[in-house]
Amino acid sequence: MKRVRDVIGEIGFAMPTAPTLEIVIGGAAVSGIDHDEVRLVEAAEAALELARAERRDILSNVSVDGGGIDVLMLMRELPSAILSGQMTLHYQPKVHIRRQEVASVEALVRWQHPERGLILPGDFIAIAERSGAIDALTRWTLRQAIADQRILASDGHIMTVFLNISGMLLADRAFIDEACRLIIGSGAKIGFEITETAVIREPEKAIAHLEMLSRLGVPIAIDDYGAGLSSLAYLKKLPAGELKIDKGFVLQLTSSNRDPLIVRSTIDLAHALDMEVTAEGVETPAALALLSVMGCDMVQGYLLGKPTSLDVFRNYLAEERHLGAVANGRPTFHRPEAFWKRA
Ligand code: C2E
Ligand code: CA
Ligand code: CA
Repeated sequence: MKRVRDVIGEIGFAMPTAPTLEIVIGGAAVSGIDHDEVRLVEAAEAALELARAERRDILSNVSVDGGGIDVLMLMRELPSAILSGQMTLHYQPKVHIRRQEVASVEALVRWQHPERGLILPGDFIAIAERSGAIDALTRWTLRQAIADQRILASDGHIMTVFLNISGMLLADRAFIDEACRLIIGSGAKIGFEITETAVIREPEKAIAHLEMLSRLGVPIAIDDYGAGLSSLAYLKKLPAGELKIDKGFVLQLTSSNRDPLIVRSTIDLAHALDMEVTAEGVETPAALALLSVMGCDMVQGYLLGKPTSLDVFRNYLAEERHLGAVANGRPTFHRPEAFWKRA
């Protein structure tokens, strides 16, 4: 039985070309007492996003994560879900601070389950890794990202689409060969985000494969830096051009004494290694201002844009361009807080 305060709903409007008003509802629900309210709001917003894109009501059941999650059932359903079009990619921009432009974009997978609603990757990536379905899932994300990158390019937005690659695939020669084949064959600009923890599993194979990808011009970003096992030895060895500081440090940037010191020294370290730095989890103008002063190169987070469907992301880019033109060749990301919060 769900209690009212455990259900967060959002109403959005989808405007068809004819002047009629369409109302769609996106919502998230959780059963039980112990739950993460921020996550519930995020799931409601993600459901609304999808509801707008697909023009139908979407309810996301967040409690699949807790006591209610049927891991075995998800494991069984995952292979056919990948084949039957239940997966979708959402896109979140990485904004270059100095250049004041969207530099690249990260693809984040979601599972639109017919009965359970929207399932976020935190709830099924580990399951996919355990069952082996991660291989098929990542091949699907790669194909989809290539197709979507082409659509962005045809709009005039030439930018790299970054994918998250699980550690177990990084050491898998068959997967890497297929990835190289697809990327070369399509000519699409695809980058990989990997964690150091992923490399530490089988370092020799992983580093050899990353070098192969790098020689082909696939940019590599080190994800979640500082969150797991961070090793300076690997940092030096990896052919990565970008370091992403884990959002855990960035979210606390303006409220903690130590995190600004850690972030500042990480930016300096990465620059000394000739890498660009991306701060993820940028939610406030204060954090953006501090990161800019610290010399951070790129920012990603809800302030700049939440993960959204491809169509919404295309509109976001079109609007950015429009605003840039309005600013008479001097586009600026220093906009009122209300501007950022709408995304
Ligand atoms: P990640 O790569 O660290 O992705 C960033 C996560 O932080 C995303 O969650 C994103 O929605 C969230 N996020 C972005 N900006 C903010 C912010 O300003 N504040 C806060 N609090 N959160 C923010 P999401 O989409 O649920 O993805 C979770 C994780 O799932 C990702 O973490 C990534 O490790 C994994 N993942 C996503 N897609 C794939 C995929 O296609 N393959 C693999 N192997 N893993 C994936
Ligand atoms: Ca990532
Ligand atoms: Ca990350």
